[in-house]
Amino acid sequence: MKPAAFDLLRPDSLEEALQALTAHQEADIKALAGGQSLIPMMNFRVAQPSVLVDLERIPDLRGIEEDGDWISIRPMTRHFEVKASPVVAKHLPLVREAYEHVAHFTIRNRGTLGGNLSHADPASEMPCVMNALDADFVLQNASSVRTVPAREFYLGPFTTAIEPDELLVQIRIPKAQADERFAFEEVSLRKGDFAMSAVAVRLAFDGDVCRSAGIALAGVAGTPVHAEAAEAELVGQPVNPDAAARAASSMIETIVFEGSANITAEYRRHVTRVLIERAIIRAVASPRI
Ligand SMILES: Cc1cc2nc3c(=O)[nH]c(=O)nc-3n(C[C@H](O)[C@H](O)[C@H](O)COP(=O)(O)OP(=O)(O)OC[C@H]3O[C@@H](n4cnc5c(N)ncnc54)[C@H](O)[C@@H]3O)c2cc1C
Repeated sequence: MKPAAFDLLRPDSLEEALQALTAHQEADIKALAGGQSLIPMMNFRVAQPSVLVDLERIPDLRGIEEDGDWISIRPMTRHFEVKASPVVAKHLPLVREAYEHVAHFTIRNRGTLGGNLSHADPASEMPCVMNALDADFVLQNASSVRTVPAREFYLGPFTTAIEPDELLVQIRIPKAQADERFAFEEVSLRKGDFAMSAVAVRLAFDGDVCRSAGIALAGVAGTPVHAEAAEAELVGQPVNPDAAARAASSMIETIVFEGSANITAEYRRHVTRVLIERAIIRAVASPRI
């Protein structure tokens, strides 16, 4: 298949890109990042934008930086760069661990973190990780900048809070603290495939007692699911296998599981319960940063 005809813009600066989005608002204009999701969709004509703005040449949109208690990742940073980053390995162990499950080598070479988060596939790992870590997404248009929490960013399958004239320009993720523990668990058909079900866990402790928790799921609904019912079972008490089992049982009662081509609703429900329990137990035992 070949895509429908489109115009390609290749701006050299963020300002130029944002002006192009404003100028072409009436047309179906789309940002092009790594093209690993958008181009196949165009080839199948599921998406038929009339104008593409290629973000490839904009240096301001790439890189990973420390910023006080936060790590700032620019959206055009490629998957392989995030996965290999020593800064990410040191300060964002959950991101590093979850990247073992994101796509295949060749896709990670071109695909970008910003494209991945903006694409909003419900079975994608990173949106779920950003939910568990309570990250912030910075959106910009030609005249203003705003910050949207990851937990409010996803509005439905493949639908986000990004307005047509906006770009995701920065992903801000809190650095891991010494009293925090993390784990990511996933079941997929093959390694590197999207999740049938996945769980990201962040637990913070005062001694043995769980002070706060961030738990999120992928692959079980149209958006990442913030697992508040599971968090509520853990906060304020020691986290042992019984508490993990209670958290998993409470959480799955809040979800209406659906089947898909390779998995029944019943199996997705079962595997999600097991993954939540397993991820919590493994997080407790995970090494200090
Ligand atoms: C075979 C295969 C397996 C895959 N497996 C997985 C997997 O297991 N897990 C997973 O998470 N992903 C997987 N992916 C998807 C992959 O991670 C993609 O790279 C990613 O979803 C899209 O990133 P991209 O940079 O290629 O974005 P693009 O395809 O270029 O863009 C995707 C969408 O985001 C929009 N966009 C891009 N950048 C911005 C921006 N800065 N601001 C606003 N909008 C923007 C585009 O307009 C488009 O709508 C897989 C893809 C393939 C082809």
